[in-house]
Amino acid sequence: MTLLTVTAVHKNFGPLVAVDNASLQVESNQIVGLIGPNGSGKSTLLHTICGRTLPNSGQILLEGHDITKSSPGARARRGMAIKFQHARIYLSKTVSDNLLIALQAECGIFSLVTNRTRKSFADDISSRLNDFGIAHLAQAQAGELSHGEQQWLEIAMAMARQPQLLLLDEPTAGMSAAERAATGVLIEKAAQSCGVLIVDHDLGFIRELCQRINVMHQGVIVAEGTPKEIEADERVKEVYLTRV
Ligand code: ADP
Ligand code: MG
Repeated sequence: MTLLTVTAVHKNFGPLVAVDNASLQVESNQIVGLIGPNGSGKSTLLHTICGRTLPNSGQILLEGHDITKSSPGARARRGMAIKFQHARIYLSKTVSDNLLIALQAECGIFSLVTNRTRKSFADDISSRLNDFGIAHLAQAQAGELSHGEQQWLEIAMAMARQPQLLLLDEPTAGMSAAERAATGVLIEKAAQSCGVLIVDHDLGFIRELCQRINVMHQGVIVAEGTPKEIEADERVKEVYLTRV
């Protein structure tokens, strides 16, 4: 069964049409790209998928369940996780505690009150930090991390609950080429256990990473296909030549 099916989603902010009749699909273990110039509606579309905002019309199915109007929490319980465009980590807490907070999100109040979770999650936390190459930073304050390390921490937090679907909004923004390559490896690893929908500006990065790519322009998905098909698409060339 298709993991994520977005059909004819429409979202306007007053007179401004941010997402116009957008449809896309993500299969399990697939990495799907969403690219397009600034302001083309990529983040808004991601927000309708994760429930941060509701679409005016259209339908969103996760593993066949209609989640179009579900709360963000209900979507998370069904297996969805998102890394937003702007970092959402606790800057004054340690890296380890940030991950603990993400892992605890599903815990009952009893275990939280008795503080049992910190112990029971300790192994889990260190193995996840290890996976994301930031184990040596476990006790550092998140606010002291480099931009790239903060992004990795956020991806690790989004992956904490072993989602079926991972949404990533510009996870490599502001990264060096080396950090970007390392992020690609992390995302490929993540895709062994879930489907990934990723927004990014770096066409080279997206082309290497994704099996399929959607191109958005002024709220409309103007092209969808394999990286090769997208590269050869005249409409895509137009979008990127007229406004990058
Ligand atoms: P992208 O992520 O592709 O850069 P966005 O989805 O952030 O694009 O924005 C698409 C359009 O919707 C832009 O014109 C933006 O200004 C507008 N927009 C986004 N969010 C809001 C909002 N909450 N209220 C009003 N306009 C918004
Ligand atoms: Mg955006």
